[in-house]
Amino acid sequence: MEQHGLVMVYTGNGKGKTTAALGLGLRAIGAGQRVLLVQFMKGDPTYSELKGIAYLPGFEVVQTGLHHWVTKETISLLDKTEAQRGLNIARNAFVEERHELVILDELNCAIDYGLIPEADVLELLTHRPQFMSVCITGRGAPASLLEAADMVSEVTEVKHHFRQGIPAQKGIEF
Ligand code: ATP
Ligand code: MG
Repeated sequence: MEQHGLVMVYTGNGKGKTTAALGLGLRAIGAGQRVLLVQFMKGDPTYSELKGIAYLPGFEVVQTGLHHWVTKETISLLDKTEAQRGLNIARNAFVEERHELVILDELNCAIDYGLIPEADVLELLTHRPQFMSVCITGRGAPASLLEAADMVSEVTEVKHHFRQGIPAQKGIEF
C-alpha cells in the first residue's frame, strides 16, 4: 500500500498535545520509519522526552528557541531568528525526503506569538512530499492551518492537576 502522508494538528488548552505527537513518533519508529522532531520555543535540553528519544534509532531531534520562557511582551529578535531556523530545518527535510514523519512541536505557539508568519507555514506545507506526514502541535492553531490539515484534534482541559497547585512533575510534564 502506498504511504499517504497526512497533515495532523494537535491544538487546544488541555494537556496532551506534545505527548500525542511523541506517541505518533514512537509508532512511526516501530513501523520502521524515520522521524524528525523540530521543537519551537524550547531551548531546554534537559526534557526527559529527549533522553527517551535517544534510545530510538531513526528519531532525530532539533531544538530551537532560547533557554528561557517567552512571553508576548519580551520577544527578542533572537527568538524570531531561532523560530525561522526551525522552519528552515523543516523546509530542508521536505527537500531531502529522508523522514516519513516530521513533528513541528509548538509551531502553533510560535505563530501565535508572532515569531513566524502564519503565511510562511501555509506556504511551507504546500511543499510537503506526498508520502510524508507532518504533525504540528501547540495551543491556538490558526483557522487557516485547521483548514489546510487532514486531521485536527483539539485537546480540551476538563481538569488539570496544576489547578490543585501540583507543580510540573518529572516524567509527566518534562
Ligand atoms: P504535554 O507536553 O504534557 O503533552 P501539551 O503539549 O498539551 O502538554 P503545552 O500547551 O505545550 O501542553 O503546555 C506545556 C506545559 O504546560 C506542559 O507541561 C503541560 O503539562 C502544561 N499544561 C498543559 N495544559 C495545561 C493546562 N490546561 N493548565 C496548566 N498547565 C498545562
Ligand atoms: Mg506542548
